[in-house]
Amino acid sequence: MTDQSPKILYLVIPCYNEQEVLDETAAQLTAKMDSMIQSGLISKDSKIAFVNDGSKDKTWEIITRLHSDNDMICGIKLSRNKGHQNALLGGLMTVKEHCDMAISLDADLQDDIGVLDEFVKKYYEGCEVVYGVRSKRQTDTFFKRFTAQSFYKLMKAFGVEIVNDHADYRLLSKRALDELENFKEVNLFLRGIVPLIGFKSDKVYYERHERFAGESKYPLKKMLNFAFDGITSFSVKPIRMISSLGGIMLILSVIAFIIYLILFCIGVCSATWAFTLISVWAVGSLELLAIGIIGEYIGKAYLETKARPKFIIEEFLK
Ligand code: UDP
Ligand code: MG
Repeated sequence: MTDQSPKILYLVIPCYNEQEVLDETAAQLTAKMDSMIQSGLISKDSKIAFVNDGSKDKTWEIITRLHSDNDMICGIKLSRNKGHQNALLGGLMTVKEHCDMAISLDADLQDDIGVLDEFVKKYYEGCEVVYGVRSKRQTDTFFKRFTAQSFYKLMKAFGVEIVNDHADYRLLSKRALDELENFKEVNLFLRGIVPLIGFKSDKVYYERHERFAGESKYPLKKMLNFAFDGITSFSVKPIRMISSLGGIMLILSVIAFIIYLILFCIGVCSATWAFTLISVWAVGSLELLAIGIIGEYIGKAYLETKARPKFIIEEFLK
């Protein structure tokens, strides 16, 4: 490394109706950042950026007050509520020009801030992306644990590359942030996009606490929508499943028809209802197959409209 001076870290925290937690969160984060500055791990220009995602409560008033009382805190206000993922991206893209690395985390401090130093150390070891991964899931209800695990399995089955038990607690270097900007998609599912950026990456393990105040902004309905978006934004496999089903049914009805013909010829079976039934199957399967094929083209067009970068160059030796 040529430049040994500590680098600038920005924490990016999306906030939606978080008035109950903000003061405590700001106090804990300021203390943590101060200690990292003291130990020379990060630059004294490092900051904590709260992103107000169109909150309906006093969130923005609190952020404004924190900003005027504390040099380390800055505030970013979205024009309206755009959801966690968009608020996060908005924050990251806003701080990108001011920092060397950014770590995203939730306002409720469920993600253990004790490991922030580990993220930064991995950055100095050359990682452009560091994923925070939950080591245990004991603070979750059985239901949440079960749905989360099924979600990861389903995503993998559909061919989406995501990191197990990693939410949105992660470090991105300035370079990774610049590349992230080139992903133009509107349906944002950052957990699926970040692995596509590539570069050297690593994981930091931590235990997730309970929310210390306020309530979850992710009710079941939002969670299901999020999971569904995650799958359909990254995979056209569901469409291919329709074609496969059509194909299999078509083969089955052809076999059934042949058996029926043989039985008919040797005089064992003469029932016309069997013939009618097989025709219904055959027509149904042809329709499924046709929908699947049309779907393939729509799927291709869909992926094209995302205009994702086709490659990202890591090194160019001149
Ligand atoms: N959040 C947001 N916009 C929303 C919903 C949530 O910015 O529309 C923020 C919220 O303030 C928190 C983070 O996203 O900082 C995660 O939300 P929450 O803690 O409620 O989710 P959970 O941890 O229960 O999954
Ligand atoms: Mg939370």
